Amino acid sequence: MVSGRLRASVEDAGAVGLPTVGDWVAFEPIGTDQAVIRAVLPRATTLVRKAAGRTSDAQVLAANVDFVLIVMGLDGDFNLRRLERALALVHQGGAVPVVVLNKSDLTADTADSRREEVARVAGAAAVHSLSALHGDGLGELTLYLARGRTLALLGSSGAGKSTLLNRLMGDDLQLTREVRPHDSRGRHTTTSRQIFVSPSGALLIDTPGLREIPLVGDDQDLGTVFDEIAALAADCRFRDCRHGGEPGCAVRRAVDAGALEPARLQSLRKLEAERAYQAVREDGALARDRKARWKTLHKAARQRQRLKRGE
Ligand code: GDP
Ligand code: ZN
Repeated sequence: MVSGRLRASVEDAGAVGLPTVGDWVAFEPIGTDQAVIRAVLPRATTLVRKAAGRTSDAQVLAANVDFVLIVMGLDGDFNLRRLERALALVHQGGAVPVVVLNKSDLTADTADSRREEVARVAGAAAVHSLSALHGDGLGELTLYLARGRTLALLGSSGAGKSTLLNRLMGDDLQLTREVRPHDSRGRHTTTSRQIFVSPSGALLIDTPGLREIPLVGDDQDLGTVFDEIAALAADCRFRDCRHGGEPGCAVRRAVDAGALEPARLQSLRKLEAERAYQAVREDGALARDRKARWKTLHKAARQRQRLKRGE
């Protein structure tokens, strides 16, 4: 249960302030099996997505996650551009991304070359290829599963997240709790999320909401994901070069010289355009909210005036 005061204090700030999976909270027990959450402790990391519909609220899908395992199948699921989005999302919230290439059993002959392709876009993130189904290569993940660590699984449906989760849990799959979050208006939502405790004592978060990966935020994290382009751009003649055919563009020069894959540049520009669009939409939603609030205030003021005048 969330206290009325906490709810009131976060209504202004949007849904971001309400407790979510992975949060540490201060609570007061009532009786033997109930408690009121009084406060949410500051979050070390977040995984955020835009709420659906015409609202400027962002939704925190998970908090205080140390490692995000970005699970991608080496089958038809393999998509470097989607991986770039996932990396941007994780960097943004401050967690450490780990790329897991699953289903290595299906592509034994190409697994190594795929891994190299991925390493080129993954930046500093570690890349592991394994078979969740057969267990090959799972040992590489031991490092992340230390006691007290929190991991989240992210990836498209069918990538093998559930299979991997079951593997990591060993046989004693131990459901600790199901969190039923409220939205900012206090209604129950249909989303449910789960935390599992691994045999080694790590916490594993499986969040259905992370299956689709939209983006939020500023350009800075795109710079982290596309760091080689950011480095090249330092040599462009114009500081605000968009690398779209401006003279003296070092990024174009690298593409022409074969030193940078055109797909990387295209991908960056697409994500930038998406963010710009999102920013405009956000401004629109904020303006609408504000307008609606003013309308209510004015109406109330007019009513008070009428009451005073005895109408
Ligand atoms: P999720 O939607 O990400 O949770 O994916 P699932 O764990 O449900 O897996 C989707 C399908 O891929 C299932 O049929 C799994 O058996 C299969 N799968 C998962 N991991 C592997 C793997 O390592 N190799 C192969 N060949 N199939 C796998
Ligand atoms: Zn340029």
